Amino acid sequence: MSASQKRLAALRESVGEVDPLEALELQQRGARLIDVREPDEVAAGSPEGALRIVRGFLELRIEQAVADTETPLLVLCAGGARSLFAADDLERLGYTDVRSVAGGFREWKNAGLPVEVPRTLDAEQRERYGRHLSVPEVGEEGQLRLLDSKVLLIGAGGLGSPTALYLAAAGVGTLGIVDDDVVDRSNLQRQILHTDARVGRSKVASARETLLALNPSLDVRGHETRLDRHNVEEVFGGYDVIVDGTDNFPTRYLINDACVKLQKPNVHGSIFRFEGQVTVFWPSREADPGPCYRCLYPEPPPAELAPSCADAGVLGVLPGVIGVMQAVETIKLLLGIGEPLVGKLLQYDALQAEFYSLRVERDPGCAYCGSEHFPGYVDYAQSCAAPVAVP
Ligand SMILES: [Zn+2]
Repeated sequence: MSASQKRLAALRESVGEVDPLEALELQQRGARLIDVREPDEVAAGSPEGALRIVRGFLELRIEQAVADTETPLLVLCAGGARSLFAADDLERLGYTDVRSVAGGFREWKNAGLPVEVPRTLDAEQRERYGRHLSVPEVGEEGQLRLLDSKVLLIGAGGLGSPTALYLAAAGVGTLGIVDDDVVDRSNLQRQILHTDARVGRSKVASARETLLALNPSLDVRGHETRLDRHNVEEVFGGYDVIVDGTDNFPTRYLINDACVKLQKPNVHGSIFRFEGQVTVFWPSREADPGPCYRCLYPEPPPAELAPSCADAGVLGVLPGVIGVMQAVETIKLLLGIGEPLVGKLLQYDALQAEFYSLRVERDPGCAYCGSEHFPGYVDYAQSCAAPVAVP
């Protein structure tokens, strides 16, 4: 008898074994069935409702998946050998009720027990998102969620450029981009989606080309249009999160009002010279809802007080900082992790190299998020948007 056969025989004695039918009955009574096979094996089918943790990561991931060490665990592999080793390791970690499924998945299938084909990442995706897969808060499940997510970016400009690049790199599967402008040389100081060779071409087409070069499997949807009260709901409809990277007040209010009405989170960023701010407006959030833009600024400033677009100078790298923070907040919302910037406004002063965080409260009297009745969209005169003093 070889050393490994001896060890297996010993484990059969020390670790309890159950046959697949018993395992199913125990699973139905609350035991967790853990399939420890490799991703390519699992891709062909796995017991219904099983937790899938590859053997190599079992000790590192089990505590997050099953926190209570008294939960009965059933370990399954292809033929019942690897699961014995795995079960032994789980006992060493302190799990008190661990058994191995005799005959493994082969016998499970032969017994005609319920099998499902789980969605998994393919080899190319595993390679591309490997650094996400090793973060427990993302993992395969989180990455699949990102791939299924749909995010709409308003503006392929200074803020939209870094946001779009990082969301595309992170594998947000569907990225919509709204912009009706063309690439202008004076934009290239900050709009890093575009290139000098594309001056004069549509920004949406240019953005699409850059993003698909970075991550070819994405669905990048261009909306080459100016948002208005007639098209805003149709454009927003298919997306999970709206990212406001706009530079003018009429659009900013339109985005806010549509997000309030459609109950979508609005990841907001704005910049002016050396200062920027970022927050998430989400008054319809179930727990701890925050304000909408109008809770803070009920109406746009009069046109004479808003700087003209050409005057609203900005340090080119500043939208990079703010847009990347919008991307971070978007990813957190999509994954449901961490504390989003809801009810909190983060301000950045580049010259002083300081971040300030302010609580921002909901206005119960807000005409938009505070009312059951949607007051309708408003057409404001075109003016440029810069952050105004925070109340
Ligand atoms: Zn409000």
